[in-house]
Amino acid sequence: MKTLPSVRILATGGTIAGAAASSTQAGYTSGRLNLKGLLNAVPDLDRLARIDGEQFANVGSQDMSFDIMTRLAREINGLLVHEEIDGVVVTHGTDTMEETAFFLNLTINSSKPVVMTGAMRPATAVSADGPLNLFNAVAVAADPAAKGRGVMVVMNDRIHGAHSLTKTNTTSVETFLSPVNGLMGTVVFGKVKFFRGPFRKHTVVSEFNPEYDLPLPRVDIVYACADMPPDLLGASVERGAKGIVIAGDGNGNMNEDTIRAAAGFARQGICIVRASRVPTGTVGRNVEVDDDANGFIASDELNPAKARILLMLALLKDRGVEEIQELYYGY
Ligand code: ASP
Repeated sequence: MKTLPSVRILATGGTIAGAAASSTQAGYTSGRLNLKGLLNAVPDLDRLARIDGEQFANVGSQDMSFDIMTRLAREINGLLVHEEIDGVVVTHGTDTMEETAFFLNLTINSSKPVVMTGAMRPATAVSADGPLNLFNAVAVAADPAAKGRGVMVVMNDRIHGAHSLTKTNTTSVETFLSPVNGLMGTVVFGKVKFFRGPFRKHTVVSEFNPEYDLPLPRVDIVYACADMPPDLLGASVERGAKGIVIAGDGNGNMNEDTIRAAAGFARQGICIVRASRVPTGTVGRNVEVDDDANGFIASDELNPAKARILLMLALLKDRGVEEIQELYYGY
């Protein structure tokens, strides 16, 4: 008889492990259930894979840190070198899932599947979505076709690539979308279907790894709005920011005063990346803002949160503006 694939589950908390006092109340606390509690709610997992697991952390993902993310990447890299482990599933809160997914996509050095999942409803809720999400995530991690696709997120029957997904709704189970370049596939009651691969560099072809000394270089996000005060940039730099991502309006725009202030910091060697507060679309170079003249970088397809992560890793090494711009086109 063929042996089933072996999948390791690393639990980090989130609403999938959340509990409320009643099954219909909106308020709850993330990260209350442990891994055993999560697994008990999912029947038939053992028909998909041989499961082993570890309680890696237990936080709401609003409290996810680069310390935990870095340890997680190192742990996964350590696990995946073992021939007997076929894939890893990470349970995680949905708030910052896209950030951890993108971070792992850059720092994992294996082509074996790494699949993240979570839930929008706590484990105690009527129609909790966590158990089926976990079942589907294990099905994807155990599927040989999932190899070489980078880090994926499985939620609500959808398979998203780490590069493309974003959280779009505060409460709905249909919260994750991949608005810029689409879904990677679907998974319905464990039946996996892939439509396409990831479009950008990831995992084994990524030049990044999690072997560095913390803290990572500080990069702040400044949210653009009508009549924005430019002095927030100075506050970031004073506190040690080596880079600033502008969550710009429209195509990564900001008002004239902020452009002037940002160009001044760019001349001092602070990396200024223009992303967008708009949930979908790309930020192109030299569209309404003269990036060449101001020394700015365009985030291309990355939203502000992911653009920040790429810059934090990029700034571990001395790189010029042009080289960093190429990273945004590549990852
Ligand atoms: N605040 C929760 C978290 O990110 C939300 C969730 O998991 O859906 O941990």
